[in-house]
Amino acid sequence: MDQDKEYVGFATLPNQVHRKSVKKGFDFTLMVAGESGLGKSTLVNSLFLTDLYKDRKLLNAEERITQTVEITKHTVDIEEKGVKLKLTIVDTPGFGDAVNNTECWKSVADYIDQQFEQYFRDESGLNRKNIQDNRVHCCLYFISPFGHGLRPLDVEFMKALHEKVNIVPVLAKADTLTPTEVKRKKIKIREEIEQYGIKIYQFPDCDSDEDEDFKQQDQELKDCIPFAVIGSNTVVEAKGKRVRGRLYPWGIVEVENPAHCDFVKLRNMLVRTHMQDLKDVTRETHYENYRAHCIQSMTRMVVKERNRNKLTRESGTDFPIPMVPGATDTETEKLIREKDEEVRHSPCQKPHEQTQHHEQHPEPEPRVDPPSEPPPSAEPHSKGS
Ligand code: GDP
Repeated sequence: MDQDKEYVGFATLPNQVHRKSVKKGFDFTLMVAGESGLGKSTLVNSLFLTDLYKDRKLLNAEERITQTVEITKHTVDIEEKGVKLKLTIVDTPGFGDAVNNTECWKSVADYIDQQFEQYFRDESGLNRKNIQDNRVHCCLYFISPFGHGLRPLDVEFMKALHEKVNIVPVLAKADTLTPTEVKRKKIKIREEIEQYGIKIYQFPDCDSDEDEDFKQQDQELKDCIPFAVIGSNTVVEAKGKRVRGRLYPWGIVEVENPAHCDFVKLRNMLVRTHMQDLKDVTRETHYENYRAHCIQSMTRMVVKERNRNKLTRESGTDFPIPMVPGATDTETEKLIREKDEEVRHSPCQKPHEQTQHHEQHPEPEPRVDPPSEPPPSAEPHSKGS
């Protein structure tokens, strides 16, 4: 009773947050990349116990000669004990399939950037409440078990994308390798990742007050990279139990048996332990990098345009990011004005201010100089002066 008097009630805050998030539901976007045939679709289906690839059309060799990388998106709503998860799988069929694979990572990088861009626009727009977040939270990159470590394409892909997305490398079709080979391959791949300066997703450090068991599990997880995985869409009978596995003349490989592969470790990491961290890193690091870069180039462009044309804010300005249909002129103007303010207050613009005199920053009202030459853009964004 006495204790109750001392009790204000904020101890229920976690429960309130919990209830609210459960009600809202969760979302997660996972990308799978890597050469076709490495078992990406099979693994995704095994991971989430769904059939996400019902309508998939496989191309023949001739069609793949000039194949370009296509990006496909499948969304499923899954529910477990009342908790809803909207899972989006982004696949990259065609990656590494063509005869010439130069820069075939480009469309994947563009896709990730487009999702950031859309989010950036939505965030700067009027209706910020119901933003649909399509940012990619994790990319499972499939490494072939048949090569000697990483191939040039793997290095190129991961280096091109490591600053945009959380890359989690996986060693595909691990059942084709002996345990010693898996061990050796993992060491080699880890060394190469280090050697080429590839920044894969880093598991956060364990808190020092965590118990020993947890710490050990965490270390095991870190030592597991790249996860050696096996996928299967069939259920077989092993030792009297029905399990997901692959039946060979010499025995059964069980997908969920930790002695056979790291499938369970990967699933636990993705779903049970690190899903939120993957989302946090996406938001706090990758998206922030994109956003900072975007603002920087927008600002630079506006300043450059102004300096060149000696125009005021009534002028049309090319934006470094293309206009999304539906973006109104008022929104655009607002953005320009905000960025303008930032430019004015940014210390790195000082040299410009000195060299360009006051014409560039008329105060308090901008001076409306008639442009000495017509502005390059034929469509002024403003609706008259
Ligand atoms: P994707 O093109 O990367 O999506 O590959 P698929 O999932 O379509 O798999 C290609 C082929 O590899 C299919 O015949 C699968 O049955 C087989 N496969 C998928 N996963 C594994 C695996 O873990 N081990 C082995 N040995 N074969 C696999």
